[in-house]
Amino acid sequence: MLQIADPRQLSTECERQRREGRRIGFVPTMGYLHEGHLSLVRRARELSDFVVVSIFVNPAQFGPSEDLERYPADLPGDLEKCRAEGVDCVFAPRGDQIYPEGFSTYVVVEGLTEGMCGASRPIHFRGVCTVVTKLFNLVGPCVAVFGEKDYQQLQVLRRMARDLNQPVEVMGSPIVREPDGLAMSSRNAYLSRSQRESAPCLYRALKTIQERLISGERITAAQAVAIARRIIEAEPETRVDYIEVRHAERLETLEDVRRGETVVALAVFVGETRLIDNIVL
Ligand code: AMP
Repeated sequence: MLQIADPRQLSTECERQRREGRRIGFVPTMGYLHEGHLSLVRRARELSDFVVVSIFVNPAQFGPSEDLERYPADLPGDLEKCRAEGVDCVFAPRGDQIYPEGFSTYVVVEGLTEGMCGASRPIHFRGVCTVVTKLFNLVGPCVAVFGEKDYQQLQVLRRMARDLNQPVEVMGSPIVREPDGLAMSSRNAYLSRSQRESAPCLYRALKTIQERLISGERITAAQAVAIARRIIEAEPETRVDYIEVRHAERLETLEDVRRGETVVALAVFVGETRLIDNIVL
């Protein structure tokens, strides 16, 4: 497995792979890898001949009061996991190799980035779109795999690739969960024992909406939000950031929950830790 930190070296290596006829599959991450990340790697493996994983905690997507400084890291452990999954190349650059002095160009997707995570994290998607574009330019993947856990991010990146004619297929991959339903996340490491016990309420809230819908009930968006809020706020140390009912692709707000085209997405602080989850109904 190649381990590369220098962007130029990555670019040269990927160009060589493409010249030799290989399809490159790409999985961007911020590291501290868990089974959710590894499921994306396996998907990329199935879809390509040369798998590149990037590990980069992207400062441009963190707000000033967020957890950039304490974001968990374990590069040796991550490399071991990538090796075990048959990853071909890990790209783990330093910050100044991605954002050299004088950096001043950003990629902004309008519309889809308004509301939901975009409302509580105003510069977040600009940072994500900028770094992902840079990584696409360096790697030149045929396919890039992203988790449905970051649902809004996936829709934003699909739109970005389409709008900018980026020659890459943006693929979504299902959310991987702990046995009690909590969506896996590097940030789960922040949770205290009691917070960890509260945290599965996010998924429980989403499942409750789904089950009531499956049982044939007609639910308005406002009712769905109220159901979820009640379940989440019953747990200690929780504070709802948002619960939204949106069109599954266009992310427009909806009045009614309709099966097949609705996503319920939420962000909840458990203690100081902001967790996100969603369900497509
Ligand atoms: P991160 O390292 O948190 O930036 O995530 C890197 C990629 O892994 C993103 O595409 C995430 O959506 C995806 N991801 C993170 N957690 C999960 C999960 N539990 N299941 C599936 N994909 C995930």
